[in-house]
Amino acid sequence: MDLMEYQAKELFAKHGVTTTLGTVVTTAEEARAAAEEYGFCVVKAQVKAGGRGKAGGVKLARTPDEAFEHASNILGMEIKGLTVNRVLVTPATPPVEEYYFSFLLDRANRQYLCIASVEGGVEIEEVAKTNPDAVKQIAIDPGSGVDEAKAREIATEAKFPEPVFEQAVAMIQALYTVFDEEDATLVEVNPLARLEGDKLEALDGKVSLDDNADFRHEDHAAFEIKEETDPLEAKAKDKGLNYVKLDGEVGIIGNGAGLVMSTLDVVAYAGEKHGGVKPANFLDIGGGANAQVMADGLDVILHDAQVKSVFVNVFGGITACDEVANGIKGALEILGDEASKPLVVRLDGNNVVEGRRILDELNHPLVTQVDTMDGAADKAAELAGA
Ligand code: GDP
Ligand code: MN
Repeated sequence: MDLMEYQAKELFAKHGVTTTLGTVVTTAEEARAAAEEYGFCVVKAQVKAGGRGKAGGVKLARTPDEAFEHASNILGMEIKGLTVNRVLVTPATPPVEEYYFSFLLDRANRQYLCIASVEGGVEIEEVAKTNPDAVKQIAIDPGSGVDEAKAREIATEAKFPEPVFEQAVAMIQALYTVFDEEDATLVEVNPLARLEGDKLEALDGKVSLDDNADFRHEDHAAFEIKEETDPLEAKAKDKGLNYVKLDGEVGIIGNGAGLVMSTLDVVAYAGEKHGGVKPANFLDIGGGANAQVMADGLDVILHDAQVKSVFVNVFGGITACDEVANGIKGALEILGDEASKPLVVRLDGNNVVEGRRILDELNHPLVTQVDTMDGAADKAAELAGA
């Protein structure tokens, strides 16, 4: 889960990273009230996208009226396709210099990576292109993490200036605590600002939390903003399904992420012959393809208005094809009239003969069986294109 800036800053504050929390509001009137308290302040769009500053979503306000005006303009604005529903009002703390700092998961090298630059924060991508030497990458062994010595090594490598060096060392350790203890896959501060009087402060924050670690962070559930999550994604999550909504018309259910991913490819390929139809989602029902799991999966996909047909692609392994076939049968009974779109089913693997027999015998008007993956993809695309 990606966090909004104000949520990231809450985690920063919790672990001793210097930042200014401010007030999150949903109306311009409340922004004015916050500004009355703070005086000179900054009004910032809260959306899960970068580049808010450039999009006009970050504005300085000298008076409460100005804060009201900026908030009115920013609320409802679209930034990278996301509607702004809340703004953060914080006391303005003008930066003298802006730095870039992040910790992230380096999957390819099975380690963590720290990226730091003291040459301009916001334009980091530009700096990386024109002056790559100014962007330092420091590998971190997840086993030993970042202690004071490592933080010093990072601060030295990144060339934090002397007046803020010791603060940088402390902040690097605190940011690592956020990364490590909150089970984040990304902690980014851009800009990490050097303020007047040589004080370091995180002016922005971006944190991605690893959902796989949710079980040991009960408090993370509070970060989920229900109104801003896709209702189908929320429903799938409630039911423990691995679901991702995409833009096309063919709903896809498969068992195992690898199979589902290759199913996306064959459907997209087959779709080219049928008016350019595309996969509507990614749904992995994993190993337990019983009736309830299948019904839950179908329930989610059939409620996507964009879906015109569903392709159920299952390779029987530990869960044999006859169980899957019974799962589909049971799911159709559970769903009743709510199942209203054609299903193309391809079963293969363990106990396939019995599985196919069960569906043949069911002879359901919505179900078409096709023996091969390519053939089934073609049929599903054809039904969605019609
Ligand atoms: P982003 O564009 O989405 O990354 O949003 P940021 O939070 O990084 O804001 C963009 C720019 O606005 C920063 O680089 C700062 O120059 C400026 N800014 C952000 N917060 C403050 C603040 O509290 N005070 C002042 N003076 N400027 C800020
Ligand atoms: Mn930023």
